[in-house]
This record gives sequence, structure tokens and C-alpha cells, in this order.
Amino acid sequence: MGFKARARKTKADSGKDDKAKVKKNAGETPCAVKSCEKWADKNLGGRSLSFDDATEMWGNGSFSSAKGRVRVCKSCYRSWKKENKNDDMY
Ligand SMILES: [Zn+2]
Repeated sequence: MGFKARARKTKADSGKDDKAKVKKNAGETPCAVKSCEKWADKNLGGRSLSFDDATEMWGNGSFSSAKGRVRVCKSCYRSWKKENKNDDMY
């Protein structure tokens, strides 16, 4: 007695934990622009810019970079693209 009830409870609890882990609309890679709190994950529309491109746009120290690449969110990439319309229009 009591064993079955406990087993069921454990099962229910672990199921709950699994659900809590899956957060919707949350990415893994934060946008490199420090003033921005969006996500730069590829599946969320994030892009990577070169260090030089990002420096021209946001200024040195206003973003973080990794290995010469700067991961930015979709909206940051869009605003960067607006400023750099002169090339690759398609
Ligand atoms: Zn951003």
C-alpha cells in the first residue's frame, strides 16, 4: 500500500519538469547588441555580422563578439541592413 500512489506521483512530477524546460519564444543565443534583449538564434531569424560591420553600426563596445562574428537578432539585422542599403539589394 502506498507504493502505487508514490510511483504515480513521481511520474507526474517528472512530466511536469519536462514541460517547464520547454519555454516558448526563448532562444539560446542572446543578441550581441547590449541594449537589445532579443534572441539571435538562427531559427528565430538571427543573423551574424562581421565585427567591422557591427562596429560601424553600433560602435565599439556596444556589442559583444565571438571569433570575429557578431550574432544579432532579426530586428537588429534589419536596422543594420537599412543603414547598408548600398550593396546587395535583392
Ligand atoms: Zn538585437
